[in-house]
Amino acid sequence: MTTPKVNANHAPAVKEIHVVWMTTGLSCDGDSVSTTAASLPSIEDVVLGAIPGLPKVHLHNPVLAYEVGDDFMQYWHKAAAGELEPFVLVLEGSVPNEEIKSEGYWAAMGTDPNTGQPITTNEWIDRLAPKATAVIAAGTCATYGGIHAMQGNPTGAMGLADYLGWNWRSKAGLPIVNVPGCPVQPDNMMETLLYLLYQVAGLAPMIPLDDQLRPTWLFGKTVHEGCDRGSYYEQGDFAHEYGSPKCLVKIGCWGPVVNCNVTKRGWMDGIGGCPNVGGICIACTMPGFPDKFMPFMDEPPGATFSSMLISSYGPLIRSLRAITNRAVNQEPKWRHRGPELTTGYEPDYYGEGNGAPNGNGHAHHQHHH
Ligand code: SF4
Ligand code: SF4
Ligand code: SF4
Repeated sequence: MTTPKVNANHAPAVKEIHVVWMTTGLSCDGDSVSTTAASLPSIEDVVLGAIPGLPKVHLHNPVLAYEVGDDFMQYWHKAAAGELEPFVLVLEGSVPNEEIKSEGYWAAMGTDPNTGQPITTNEWIDRLAPKATAVIAAGTCATYGGIHAMQGNPTGAMGLADYLGWNWRSKAGLPIVNVPGCPVQPDNMMETLLYLLYQVAGLAPMIPLDDQLRPTWLFGKTVHEGCDRGSYYEQGDFAHEYGSPKCLVKIGCWGPVVNCNVTKRGWMDGIGGCPNVGGICIACTMPGFPDKFMPFMDEPPGATFSSMLISSYGPLIRSLRAITNRAVNQEPKWRHRGPELTTGYEPDYYGEGNGAPNGNGHAHHQHHH
């Protein structure tokens, strides 16, 4: 995997670029917090002008901004009015479905000066996406729906591409760029943002994306392919409890079928990366997360079979694994737009008093046909 080359020797096509970063999807702000740990490049490098050839970058992010209230919201209104050109829109958090109810709202930011009413996140996406030169979904909530979009949720939450459409293009012809992770790996986010800033400045070719709209050079390999416990796996030497340095597949590691580079890249400054440091991979980057990987602490299906036979049947295992990888690279079917909630949410559930949700089995649809 090679990172595509940018050409920073030419003058940029624009003098300034804005980054309008919304954290008002259904979000925990974890991706903003995570990104403050980036060093390749750091946020400071980008906004303070340390990157060769890059125009002046203005970052507008509610977690990191000094401005508050109207002073902060002015950038949103300017961007919507076409007065903040050019800008990259970043969405953090999943997109709730505001169509499934007749009153109230799930998520909003700022107020409409004409009505005094909150402006919903969906309304902001509708206003800003057509004006943005490039759009990034940061974190698994924004990319595919994530935790908020799991089975039985009441909001009908979905990823940005489910909301705008998987074939959506910006006014500059760019697809949505998905950088999943819960939270997003800091350098994955900043490297992708930097790539797009170079592209907006006319200094880089089209960003290469896979069919889930992920940068190919970041998500083209599995956790397992980069894991430093791989030789234990190959020797059939497995951990049966936490704290062991051996392969974690028997205690629930999903690494063999998960597209994520933290085992190669680490978390901060090359340090960490879930299985490298003893944490099972729970597949937090994946379109099928969390539903297709629960319950998290169980041994993944196929793990016994594949770990028993790995030495003599490697090619067979690889093809079986490719089938699983394809299945977990698809989102569950209830993440979509429209007036109907199909997550299996049952509003009277808490009244039944049995204390356990209708977890991993079949969905009870709210509307029966
Ligand atoms: Fe928080 Fe994870 Fe969602 Fe990011 S993807 S907003 S870290 S829950
Ligand atoms: Fe693969 Fe997980 Fe074992 Fe690492 S710990 S070798 S990712 S199964
Ligand atoms: Fe998420 Fe697994 Fe990657 Fe860790 S290794 S960040 S759990 S996908």
